[in-house]
Amino acid sequence: MGWGRIFALCALLPLIREARGTPCKRTVCKNIPGDPGWPSSTDWNLLNKTVDGQLVPTIQLASLCHGTEYDHGQCEDLKAAWPFANVHVQKSAEFLMPYFQNQSCDPYTAQEKPCELGNYAQYSINVSTVSHVQAGIQFAQEKNIRLTIKNTGHDLLGKSSGKGALSLWTHHLDTINFIDHYNGDSEYDGPAVRLGAGVLSSDVVAAASSRGFRVVTGTCPDVGVAGGYTSGGGHGVFTSVYGMGADNVLEWEVVTAKGEHLIATPTAHADLYWALSGGGAGTFAIVLSMVTRVYPDGVIGGATFNFDVGSAGSAEKYWEGVATFQSAMGPVVDAGAVISYALTPTAMVVFGIAVPTENASAIDQVLSPITTAMADIGIDLNITTSIHSRYLDFYNQYFFEAVTATPAAQITGGRLVPRSIMETDTGARTVTEAFQNATDAGFAIVCDAVNADQARLNRNAVLPSWRSALLHCIFVKTWDFSMPWDEMTAYQANLTNIVMPQIEAVTPGGGAYLNEANFEQPDWQNVFYGENYPRLKDIKSKVDPKGTFYAQTAVGSELWTEDANGRLCQ
Ligand SMILES: Cc1cc2nc3c(=O)[nH]c(=O)nc-3n(C[C@H](O)[C@H](O)[C@H](O)COP(=O)(O)OP(=O)(O)OC[C@H]3O[C@@H](n4cnc5c(N)ncnc54)[C@H](O)[C@@H]3O)c2cc1C
Repeated sequence: MGWGRIFALCALLPLIREARGTPCKRTVCKNIPGDPGWPSSTDWNLLNKTVDGQLVPTIQLASLCHGTEYDHGQCEDLKAAWPFANVHVQKSAEFLMPYFQNQSCDPYTAQEKPCELGNYAQYSINVSTVSHVQAGIQFAQEKNIRLTIKNTGHDLLGKSSGKGALSLWTHHLDTINFIDHYNGDSEYDGPAVRLGAGVLSSDVVAAASSRGFRVVTGTCPDVGVAGGYTSGGGHGVFTSVYGMGADNVLEWEVVTAKGEHLIATPTAHADLYWALSGGGAGTFAIVLSMVTRVYPDGVIGGATFNFDVGSAGSAEKYWEGVATFQSAMGPVVDAGAVISYALTPTAMVVFGIAVPTENASAIDQVLSPITTAMADIGIDLNITTSIHSRYLDFYNQYFFEAVTATPAAQITGGRLVPRSIMETDTGARTVTEAFQNATDAGFAIVCDAVNADQARLNRNAVLPSWRSALLHCIFVKTWDFSMPWDEMTAYQANLTNIVMPQIEAVTPGGGAYLNEANFEQPDWQNVFYGENYPRLKDIKSKVDPKGTFYAQTAVGSELWTEDANGRLCQ
């Protein structure tokens, strides 16, 4: 259809509407570069002055692998670094997940292929003050352009990317201030820490350790604690002892879509506090900092073991062992342990068990439900244990190197598995069979067994099914950049259409962790937010009525669609 006919149809729409007596909503889109409404260079220069010269035009990192910018040595280095997070964390507009990179500018495509903007922001503000954030929000609203927030770019669902957006880059909001005695308006009375929105997990773990404290973070060293992690819920090795990241927040310092600079606590702007604590980042406000509890550091036990088809004697026995192991973990997590393990078709690696205990024999005691159940089916586990005087040493031994050495670029699905299902023989068996099918389809499974504390249900917006889950599992296909694009995206389709539906069928009521899940999850409102969705949507409509903050699968995002050119439309 030619443009002339489209314009003619548009002109007729009001008449047709009138004749039919039905309202017809006009589609309105945010501007992308090249649109008539896109801000002029004068507009951008003015914004740059307003933000103290901190406006950063996007020059994609992989430009040095293409066209006249090509540099062989640097490009080879970039190829080696690209699947890992760190290189993307350091740059304003880069993000980690290949599906959203969409080959628009990566180091593996042909040198002659020019870089395209793709899903990258056009400009970023390297924010360091409240007024930078306020200026960014105001500019995006006035010029009708998309606004994104990028902290580290880890988001597995592509939520920190967006074509032609103005991005607020929070990486340099990196201050860590300990508070000896927090006396805000919550019931908590004790030490705390204020974390800037850009603080990385490894930085706060080290800083807390040097002060004799622990903080709830994830296991990946370069995930941002006060960005996506805590607002999405936030699990880690302390989940069974101190709850989730969101359970520990005392206050959020934010700038709202209306430009207000607020402190949200359980009693001040309480709805906003509730929503920010588990209801997903990039949705309700821009976080500048958060205050979270700290706990006295101390002795912590660790354990690791593995078994495989060889040691089990057969594939059948191996999967029987997996089912037995998975059904025996309830009492172990009730004792405060978190068990992190990975499954492939041939091996199970329990790479880190955190046990809140003081001596090695107590670790054996805590793990005895697992060792006994496995011995009962003829599998003797060879468990290696360790005792650490402080959490940092435990973390370095079990997680730091393992996580940093593992490529993070991936395709991901996720599921919370209810404890009630895993504690019946039939449930444990059917879940394990579905896991086996997922590994046969080429997905590794990485799970954390936790007790996220039923008593905390509904105190914040953390998905309620976390509280009754035994397992949080992700289904991972590491992105292989040497494979044709179509083969990798076929894994994504298989995940959505075959693998996850099988897992969901045997885990009714489980839901999924909104930060570690499939961006194509059907019925994501229910699966990621559960019964909290109506309240979250109501809060969203009040604090962000114009939809300034958009991210795929974020609360309220169903009101928007992306057109064929990547414009966000309503
Ligand atoms: C390798 C890897 C390991 C992981 N390990 C864990 C783990 O152990 N435990 C766990 O719970 N999760 C884990 N995750 C998931 C992680 O919590 C999410 O990817 C999270 O979204 C990352 O947040 P970020 O701020 O670092 O990343 P970004 O991609 O920069 O941001 C993520 C989202 O948060 C929003 N956002 C960021 N900063 C702000 C801000 N200041 N204000 C408002 N919105 C903001 C962004 O807009 C985006 O929607 C892991 C992910 C990866 C890739």
